[in-house]
Amino acid sequence: MTSAFSVDPSVTVRVPAKVNLELGVGPRREDGYHGLSTVFMAVGLHDEVTASVSDDWQVEVTGPYAAHVPTDDTNLALRAAQALAALVGVDEPVALRIHKEIPVAGGMAGGSADAAAALLACDQLWSSSRSRDELSVLAAGIGSDVPFCLSGGIAIGSGRGEQLAPVLATGRYHWVFAVSDVGLSTPEVYAECDRLRGSAAVPVPEPSNGMMTALRSGDPEALGRALTNDLQEAAFSLQPSLREIVDAGLEYGALGGIVSGSGPTIAFLTGSPELALDLCVSLTASGVAGEVRRAKAPVQGAHVVTGPGRA
Ligand code: ATP
Repeated sequence: MTSAFSVDPSVTVRVPAKVNLELGVGPRREDGYHGLSTVFMAVGLHDEVTASVSDDWQVEVTGPYAAHVPTDDTNLALRAAQALAALVGVDEPVALRIHKEIPVAGGMAGGSADAAAALLACDQLWSSSRSRDELSVLAAGIGSDVPFCLSGGIAIGSGRGEQLAPVLATGRYHWVFAVSDVGLSTPEVYAECDRLRGSAAVPVPEPSNGMMTALRSGDPEALGRALTNDLQEAAFSLQPSLREIVDAGLEYGALGGIVSGSGPTIAFLTGSPELALDLCVSLTASGVAGEVRRAKAPVQGAHVVTGPGRA
């Protein structure tokens, strides 16, 4: 391969985590994936990925969860950067520095977020100028949640979650996340969901009217009532302590509480920044939850914060 692209020293991209407001899981497909109908919301917990010109492909990870992130070629950010390099015909290795603030294996799409950030950072670094649509197609090949991490905001996901459609939505929301120190593996949670369902017929899921109405109204109480997750019972089955955390948060006044994606992070919706802070204090004081984090939502998807393509 030859490089026909101008090279700039480094580009930093900021990228949010996600919560699934609604996660409908359909039957297992022939390719092993489950058909999904989900509503994503991008939340204000961010990783930053910096791509720099380097002699070798490298990954370095900093931040509170760094120890749990692989730095070999299984790292999703590295895989994304190499996929873009192959697509655009670049043979310039990059060093990726990931500052990790999104919990790892927490059901918040942290790895997917880094992959989305790496795509955008390398696109800028190499001046390859791929459209968001082109990056989104590449993103879907890396992971089901990667296209949403690029786009951010609020969106309906179908297929494996990678096919996105816009949602008419308003309002600002205030979340509290109870972060578990025990990760749950996404494939194991889906397998447990299948096991619990046994041979029961599973309908193909679709977005609920309750969720769409809540998002149109911007009413946090309605949104709190509309939160659902078909993987929740499976996550509880694998980690029974998660049910206690949900119950405690609801008792302390959350408008809704739900396992985030495949867990084990629990997401609580509150009515204001002050109530979010109160809930953090109550959850921490009760000892039921270890680490708690607050975040506003929705927020924009992956975006350049330093470097030549700064928005
Ligand atoms: P999802 O919500 O998309 O199912 P998750 O939030 O549960 O994902 P991730 O944080 O994406 O889980 O991590 C899942 C696994 O992916 C980790 O255990 C880790 O080994 C691997 N991984 C690869 N690259 C990364 C990355 N850049 N950041 C975090 N984990 C990564």
